[in-house]
Amino acid sequence: MTNRKAVHLVLKIVHKLCPSFLPLLILMKISSAAVPYVNIVGSSIIIDALFQKKGFEQIFQYALWMMGLSFVLSMFCWGIDKLVNVRKYLLAEQVQKMISQKGLTLDYEILEKKETLECIHKAREGMNTNGDITVFCDRIANMIGVMADIIYAVILFIPVFFAVGASTGAPFFQFIQSHFGSIALNLILVGQLIFLGWSQRRMGALQKQTFDINVDANRHYNYYMSFLMDSSNYAKGKDVRMYDFADTISERYKKDVNSIMKVFRQMRKRMEKYSFLNECCSAVYTIASYVYVGVKAGLGLVSIGSVARYVGAFTKFSAALGSVVRTYTEISICAQYLAYFQEFMDIKNEKYNGNLSIEKREDGEYEFEFCDVSFSYPNSVEPVLEHISMKVKVGKKMSLVGPNGAGKTTFIKLLCRLYDPTEGQILLNGVDIRQYNYSEYIQLFSVVFQDFKLFTFSIAENVAVSKEFDEKKVRSCLQKAGFTERLGTLKKDIHTSLYKLERDGVEISGGEAQKIAIARALYKDSPLVILDEPTSALDPQSEYEIYRSFDRLVGEKTAIYISHRMSSCRFCNQILVFDKGRIVQQGSHDKLMENTDGLYYQMWNAQAQYYE
Ligand code: ADP
Repeated sequence: MTNRKAVHLVLKIVHKLCPSFLPLLILMKISSAAVPYVNIVGSSIIIDALFQKKGFEQIFQYALWMMGLSFVLSMFCWGIDKLVNVRKYLLAEQVQKMISQKGLTLDYEILEKKETLECIHKAREGMNTNGDITVFCDRIANMIGVMADIIYAVILFIPVFFAVGASTGAPFFQFIQSHFGSIALNLILVGQLIFLGWSQRRMGALQKQTFDINVDANRHYNYYMSFLMDSSNYAKGKDVRMYDFADTISERYKKDVNSIMKVFRQMRKRMEKYSFLNECCSAVYTIASYVYVGVKAGLGLVSIGSVARYVGAFTKFSAALGSVVRTYTEISICAQYLAYFQEFMDIKNEKYNGNLSIEKREDGEYEFEFCDVSFSYPNSVEPVLEHISMKVKVGKKMSLVGPNGAGKTTFIKLLCRLYDPTEGQILLNGVDIRQYNYSEYIQLFSVVFQDFKLFTFSIAENVAVSKEFDEKKVRSCLQKAGFTERLGTLKKDIHTSLYKLERDGVEISGGEAQKIAIARALYKDSPLVILDEPTSALDPQSEYEIYRSFDRLVGEKTAIYISHRMSSCRFCNQILVFDKGRIVQQGSHDKLMENTDGLYYQMWNAQAQYYE
């Protein structure tokens, strides 16, 4: 990304998120750039006054003025700095919000693509290192600050070039007094700048190269760190201990750290060389300016007091020009990292989002139909579902059974539009589901996925998925899901936080989590309830309770269960038997049991024998 584009992008974002941030930051940089000049000018006036033997009172007055002005300016900068810092945190927070919002609203299908994950990783790493928007703003403001610095310095030192002598003394002194002396001093400066520009570009390229080489190792490193340090993932520690993973993880972790550090050390070594040479150039210029001004002062072309002023201005000028080159390079590096951020923000959702509204039906008469649907996952050509045709009958209880990997969960994912079919159509009341507004469409489903997630919020917030909740309804759903007894043991009742992120958070078992997830599905109160392995983590008594009360739980709603517990199918009016991505049988339990060669019969008997 070019610097101009990056500046434009950042200005647009910052203007939208926190318009006062950049003007305040620039004001602060311009004001703080002026502080050293007050001291430089002040001290040169005082030195001249001393040489001119002015009275103590007058000199004291100068000193007071200088200190007063410097103090007021510093206080002003300090005040603005406070305002800037508050806005900086606010802006960083808003940007994070923007990124997470983007991540949360991306099509699920796109989110799981390798390229998307890579892009997210690079954008996040970039933001953590050099591509942060607040850092970028800081650099833009720095640039403006050093420009101000340059203007202040030029105003101060320009008169020294006009202090030209009558070519007296040794040839060296004659040279210094003439215009050639000034030209020579400026040539040294230009040489220094050219070297600085070149070395900064090299250093920028080195940093970027290091970042790109380390992307994979960094990703692995973060993953291994999550086993060792991630407080929200301490549960992983069980497997680490039981399977003696510690050595394997440490080994891999060390390998990645070593490889990151090796690349990093190489980069640092080369960068140090450039920094050293830059320091040398800068020292040469400072010495030259001392000689230049010193000779002119010695020859009486400028006052003794102004030596400090001119040398100070020259040194500041050289440093500021150096900063221009450095800041420009930093902006260029930042712009390259920002490109990853921009790439992420530019990812477009591909899912067609129709504008048809979902009809609000009190009677819950929503009928779904799969018409010759086939599906392959992104980045894969293998069909996971093939030629699926079926109808979900309204108000009925339907069960999906079949071996692992047969495509049952994928069927649910298509129904919920997490993915679109590769071929065929899914209809809702006769209309292709792609024609409906997506956010309205998903309101039709309450789903408990097999790998459901609860959050480190309170139990009530987890159930209602909101900070605002209807307490009575939360309790009723928890009670229906069989969580009441455990709730009685919790001091803070439904306000208890889950997991140990919070100081008083509680740990719950897999079965208890499943009950809360079921309560969450019930709270949503959608016309279609889908439970994928709803009782896999429940104890036999709870499982029995859930199945016994299924009808009461879901009422008149349409319900779809995926279950390996064959006995649960008895509760269902319609059973779909999946095998290798196809529906191989469908019907009621009794009808399916009539076919003794069928998969359903075999699965039923295979499970029944354990209970005989
Ligand atoms: P079931 O629920 O019947 O056990 P799934 O629908 O979960 O089966 O999976 C069907 C097949 O699809 C499996 O072979 C699985 O490996 C594959 N699969 C599931 N999710 C993905 C995915 N996100 N990307 C690629 N393949 C997947």
